[in-house]
Amino acid sequence: MLSGPTISPGEFIHFKTAVLDDGILLAGFDYLGKSVNVLNVESMSEWQEIVQYAEQSAAIKSVVLVSVKEGNFCAGADLEQMHAAQRRRSFQEMEQLVITAHRLFDAMGRSPKPFVAAVEGACLGGGLELALACHARIASTHPRTCFALPEVKLGILPGFGGTQRLPRLIGVPAALDMITTGKTIFPRQALRMGLADGMVTSIPSTVRTLESIQKETLVQAAIVQAYVLCTASARRRPLRASQRFLSVPVVRSLVCRYARHQVIKRVRHFYPAPLRAIDAVERGMRVSILEGSLNVEKPLLLDLMASPISAHLVGLFLAGEEVKRSVATVPMAATRVGVLGAGLMGAQIAGQLAEKGYAVVLRDVSSDILATAIGRIHKTQTAQVRKRIILPSDLRYRMMRIAPAIHIRDVSAASLVIEAVSEKLDVKRAVLAEFESAARPDAIFATNTSSYTLADIAVKAVHPERCVGLHFFNPVARMQLVEVVRAPFTSDIALAQTCSLAKRLGKFPLVVNDGPGFLVNRILSRYLAEAVIMVGEGISIRRIDAVAKNFGMAVDSGHPMGPLELLDLIGLPVAMHVLTSLAVLGPRVESRDALLRNFLPEKKPPLTFWKSGKENAQALNAIADYRRAYPSDAGPISDAILHQRLFLPMVDEAVRCLHDKIVEHPWQVDFALTYGIGFPAFRGGLLTWARQTMTPGQITQELESLAVTYGQRFDPCPGFSNGGW
Ligand code: NAD
Repeated sequence: MLSGPTISPGEFIHFKTAVLDDGILLAGFDYLGKSVNVLNVESMSEWQEIVQYAEQSAAIKSVVLVSVKEGNFCAGADLEQMHAAQRRRSFQEMEQLVITAHRLFDAMGRSPKPFVAAVEGACLGGGLELALACHARIASTHPRTCFALPEVKLGILPGFGGTQRLPRLIGVPAALDMITTGKTIFPRQALRMGLADGMVTSIPSTVRTLESIQKETLVQAAIVQAYVLCTASARRRPLRASQRFLSVPVVRSLVCRYARHQVIKRVRHFYPAPLRAIDAVERGMRVSILEGSLNVEKPLLLDLMASPISAHLVGLFLAGEEVKRSVATVPMAATRVGVLGAGLMGAQIAGQLAEKGYAVVLRDVSSDILATAIGRIHKTQTAQVRKRIILPSDLRYRMMRIAPAIHIRDVSAASLVIEAVSEKLDVKRAVLAEFESAARPDAIFATNTSSYTLADIAVKAVHPERCVGLHFFNPVARMQLVEVVRAPFTSDIALAQTCSLAKRLGKFPLVVNDGPGFLVNRILSRYLAEAVIMVGEGISIRRIDAVAKNFGMAVDSGHPMGPLELLDLIGLPVAMHVLTSLAVLGPRVESRDALLRNFLPEKKPPLTFWKSGKENAQALNAIADYRRAYPSDAGPISDAILHQRLFLPMVDEAVRCLHDKIVEHPWQVDFALTYGIGFPAFRGGLLTWARQTMTPGQITQELESLAVTYGQRFDPCPGFSNGGW
């Protein structure tokens, strides 16, 4: 700790500092050894020294905080440190860190010397709380600049004063919306809602030193803001009249009640964190920021941090980081990509690629189909303009990056081609042959098939080493998981190029080995097939979906969903294809074709199980027809058995996938099912849930007893009861 004024605050490991003319202390956050800045005991104590130096030095008039890392202001608290504390079940160090942060941020807020955050890149969680403790925030329009308090997604609440400062800055309703959903706010939205005080277009310097960053427009604008704040009498902008009204105590408690109602509607009672965060806001607004931080926010945070739900969520988050870190990537990644097939998936994939700056050639068999696809992409992208995420000019650039094409020769310049044509084996093989005849010699062919193996598709390929699987999930923009499928013949470079692309799209590229249904659809097929079998037995659609929803299926997407509604979303033709193809796994995947065929009326769209929130009357007729033709004698069933029939076959299939080396580790199954089909994250993933609620021996017994009552498809896989998964 520095005691007297010197010309520089000294040397730090995670910060670079410089004292500029007119007494501006420029502090550049650059956490050593990580690609992003994090707040932990080490970085926080250095920041504390810098703040104390600024306070005590007469030469310093104000402080500008900037990040030296491009595209990241600060990612928030160090989650590895937090997860280690959760595993040890020892939270003293975390508590000390929180107390330090509260006192330090409070001192910054009360300091007569203004602190200004120059924000470029992600400003998340504790990083945003650090920026909130500053007197002003200037945002750059860098594509990665965004603000969020995503703590509730980790089962905790913003614990560095976020629940206290944010409502005072932007008003209670907007703050509750951000805090309880963890939603991302983009620069123009931040400016409008008062989260940012200014926004500038700034070109990041390629040389990441404090000297070069200092010349950026962003830092210059932050310096100007610091001058203004040095002279201005009022530091804080008053709330707008509407925000003030919504923050008066009586109205505030109504706003909080409404927020609780919204949370329960979205995530039921599965997640305590958003509700505790509302408590922290409501109670904290009655006292000072420091009191609210220390006496209200901190105890609620520590309680949540010690809960198994938070440990599960943080574990899954770190699994995602591991997935991204562990894949091989290439420095010279593809920039020109072809997409074959402009249907449901192809159009979405092309839109995502254009959004991330790729030049895309989108190919289909007719100009009508292409026109529809371009229209759909335009509509999705326009929504981002409406929400002020992007400018109309960004929309134009994105659309200009997509070139529609009918001839395969137009795709020949692409170094990577994603195949998303109709799910028919002969069509896929023909498209691969066409690709090989026209493509560059080093171009990669990545198939988005959901039911064929890569080996099936590439059986006649001249260059199978260029073939890889790239299995997206629907809706592509929302689903973060992609399976990158490797067959024994897939080359390392094809795999690395594909992983690089998936990462640049912001996805988690989970590398899986080739096999029917890969990992996710193989396990999912057991769940979907059993739901259909139960419908055929006369169990109601509503009841089957309710059991799954009560377990939490898809609750993390904000729209809890059972297997039959999921079938509607996937679309019956695709789902039937997957179920039929997976029959190669043996009798344990039954597709109940006879029932589902009743759902495909001639020349009409397929029937859905649900229609406008109700069981579809036509679907009920189709089920009744089936039951007349195939009467079943299954007796009454309890919810507990219904639950077992849905979930235990998934566990069995997951263990079989591990035996078949589709993936190596149980955590990969947990991660894939959570991010791929909405297995409830608060349960830690499919296998974690199974391990924590039953012994392998108990699950084996349950499966065997289901096999006696309902058929051989429940027979557990050999060696199941030995555990090890
Ligand atoms: P879709 O039927 O909506 O689109 C397929 C498109 O391919 C059609 O527009 C068709 O005209 C076009 N096509 C057919 N032959 C072609 C050719 N020779 N060249 C170019 N285009 C051709 O199908 P979809 O749902 O978009 O599925 C596409 C692929 O993605 C399938 O392999 C499917 O299994 C897979 N997939 C689908 C989903 C889903 O939820 N629908 C999810 C993951 C993966």
